[in-house]
Amino acid sequence: MNFATASIHSEQNFSKETGAITPPIFLSSTFEYGNSGNFDYTRSGNPNFRNLSTTISALEQSEYTSVFSSGIAAVTAVASTLKSGDKILAEENVYGCTFRIFEQVFKKFGIEILYIDLSNIKNFSEIEKYSPELIWIESPTNPLLKLVDIEKLSTIAKKFNIPVLVDNTFATPFFQKPLELGATLSLNSTTKYLNGHSDSLGGSVSTNDEKWSEKLEFAQKSLGLSPSAFDCFMISRGIKTLSLRMKQHAKNALQITEFLHSHPLIEWVKYPFHSSHPQYELAKKQMTGFSGMITARLKLSEEKTKEFLQQLQYFPLAESLGGIESLSCHPATMTHASVPQEIKESIGIYGGVIRLSVGIEDVEDLLEDLEKVLEKFSK
Ligand SMILES: *Cc1c(COP(=O)(O)O)cnc(C)c1O
Repeated sequence: MNFATASIHSEQNFSKETGAITPPIFLSSTFEYGNSGNFDYTRSGNPNFRNLSTTISALEQSEYTSVFSSGIAAVTAVASTLKSGDKILAEENVYGCTFRIFEQVFKKFGIEILYIDLSNIKNFSEIEKYSPELIWIESPTNPLLKLVDIEKLSTIAKKFNIPVLVDNTFATPFFQKPLELGATLSLNSTTKYLNGHSDSLGGSVSTNDEKWSEKLEFAQKSLGLSPSAFDCFMISRGIKTLSLRMKQHAKNALQITEFLHSHPLIEWVKYPFHSSHPQYELAKKQMTGFSGMITARLKLSEEKTKEFLQQLQYFPLAESLGGIESLSCHPATMTHASVPQEIKESIGIYGGVIRLSVGIEDVEDLLEDLEKVLEKFSK
């Protein structure tokens, strides 16, 4: 099955008695012993979880997928497989809440984390030197949209038997398949593009390694990280239009990037599938396109930048991303507010940096909105 077909036809509709085209939501917390689906208690499995994980496996081209109550629950499931004294080598620009759970929770249990710039292949030498139990990357990263060479990194890690996790939330399996590039685990916050309508939370981890799958299923039930049947149904429903949505996000984002690129109030704009991105060649090597995420730096102070975002009509200032509606974010005071000022500046999150999650509205309206407010602030 091709991608769009798989996103619509992978799930089971349980239609034998009713002819239902769409599967029901199974709210039952428990299942009669000996049923042919092997369900026992919803914390450790439910038909709606199974439908969602089967579909995500088809999209990620994986043998196994486990689903969780949020992206952070998926992060918890993976990190909980480590023990005191184990080490994680992480990309320095990981998602803010991933950084927070590593620093404020897992460190307490004796897990060590080293953050380095893994978009620079020179730093791959740390893999052998640090010898971690797990490598954790995002590509492209949030909010700076740096890329990590997943294939090269995975080849080196494999030599030392170190599993590689790729947080695939920003690219989605529509544009990037980390397992095909050699990674061990591909994680998604399904809250974002997979659900796509900003109305549920979820997370997933896909793998081809049976042992990892067993560990993740164990974490789901033993740590209570399971999603709700309702949210799984919503995310499965969202995924049916993933392919259409991603094409439109990409098209709109590219046009907006071009416009911003030529505007005098813009210091720089980053979009991995625009020729101005410093890693455009790598982007083309490991992705087939990119989503609606754009990061730009305005020639304005932090205060003026926030005012600028508040005056946009179609880009409400809000956390999260990946929905059909456009959103804007001011990373320095929102997603990265807890990061010390010197660190923020050293990794490039200045007061004038903005992040746009470009939705699937008519791009003419989005461009007009941006143009109007940019003109106003140029005076
Ligand atoms: C949102 C996000 C997460 C966390 O997901 P939640 O569903 O909000 O818990 C993890 N990684 C990335 C890249 C994200 O954008």
